[in-house]
Amino acid sequence: MSVAQIDLHVELKKYFGFSEFKGLQEDVIKNVVAGNNTFVIMPTGGGKSLCYQLPALIKEGTAIVVSPLIALMKNQVDAIRGVSENDGVAHVLNSSLNKTEVKRVKEDIRNGITKLLYVAPESLTKEEHVEFLRSVTISFMAVDEAHCISEWGHDFRPEYRNLRHIIKRIGDNIPIVGLTATATEKVQEDILKSLGIPNAVKFKASFNRPNLYYEVRPKTKNVDADIIRFVKQNEGKSGIVYCLSRKRVEELAQVLQVNGIKAVPYHAGLDAKTRVKHQDMFLMEDTDVVVATIAFGMGIDKPDVRFVIHHDIPKSIESYYQETGRAGRDGGEGHCLAYYAYKDIEKLEKFMAGKPVAEQEIGHALLQEVVAFSETSVSRRKFILHYFGEEFDNETGEGGDMDDNVRFPKPQKEAKDDVIK
Ligand code: ADP
Ligand code: MG
Repeated sequence: MSVAQIDLHVELKKYFGFSEFKGLQEDVIKNVVAGNNTFVIMPTGGGKSLCYQLPALIKEGTAIVVSPLIALMKNQVDAIRGVSENDGVAHVLNSSLNKTEVKRVKEDIRNGITKLLYVAPESLTKEEHVEFLRSVTISFMAVDEAHCISEWGHDFRPEYRNLRHIIKRIGDNIPIVGLTATATEKVQEDILKSLGIPNAVKFKASFNRPNLYYEVRPKTKNVDADIIRFVKQNEGKSGIVYCLSRKRVEELAQVLQVNGIKAVPYHAGLDAKTRVKHQDMFLMEDTDVVVATIAFGMGIDKPDVRFVIHHDIPKSIESYYQETGRAGRDGGEGHCLAYYAYKDIEKLEKFMAGKPVAEQEIGHALLQEVVAFSETSVSRRKFILHYFGEEFDNETGEGGDMDDNVRFPKPQKEAKDDVIK
């Protein structure tokens, strides 16, 4: 059967058990199957993986998936293996494999069994791997978390920089699919340029999260008491409290515990066993609250997180959006409460002091947006969506009244000084 005759709904059901595509998935998949360069921008949880997994399963050859996180790659490979009779349908190629395992992976690829090959970008710098991949049929190349290529993104990874060059070496005409949840113009431009696909067909889903309520409160010395009150008003519900420093995480977790709240700390300074334990406690609802640094959250998919509190304001709107985005994944209530003091912005500025000038300038520009967001008296949702290049109308848009500035407008005199850029 030729690719053109394939019924995508049948394939979707067969491999993934879903009856319907989500959002733009079907359009994206048709485009990828057709062999076009493609750029997919969807918020976290939007269903980006399927946009390359399904085409990979359908098309001839092996699709290479570049992804930055080994743990996430393993999850995906296990999931794909679960839907096929053959274990070799998906493989990971990384530095943790021994010689025999690498040999098996390459055999499966050469025999046409492997439809998805997950690689970390640094594995692609290995000459022997590149040589091998040049010699087999590659259906397309998917670059997941593509914002890692941009210094304007919230998670820049130098290993991503070289990808274009490496892809070219593997094959001149391999279609490229870039995927990200970062929607700023700057990052998008960077991605297209760095991957060398200026004419990629672009699919961008809305970043509106209508069920999230956004609120910013001024940060005073009573912030801890305020947080305790908020958490107690939401007793029994799951929530995350983000702090900037490990020390603050420890302190605040203790303060909450002393006040009878089930809370645990989470940060990269804790040993691996404790981190796993605290994360599991959160998932199993043995604790209500995780007090954490930004080390907590990536890849954690708890659908019923009911609030995300920022004890300290994040360093960019993207970070804020990603972190608050962990609330209300199930579509239910999600209260996003951030505490803001200009003093904290100065603190963040100071952290950047030793860094290269270019990096400092980027960091500064990102922080200015955070200041504008925190101090604005227009709709927070409108601000965020504007930042991501979307025009939002609070009268007609979903969730239009779901922020503090819309519900409780500030006096007119203050408000007229605020202009969204
Ligand atoms: P992203 O990478 O955009 O953050 P994922 O690919 O991890 O999102 O998908 C998020 C969730 O949505 C997963 O649990 C996935 O199984 C689910 N999902 C994806 N596509 C569909 C679909 N068509 N129908 C139902 N659920 C879907
Ligand atoms: Mg993803």
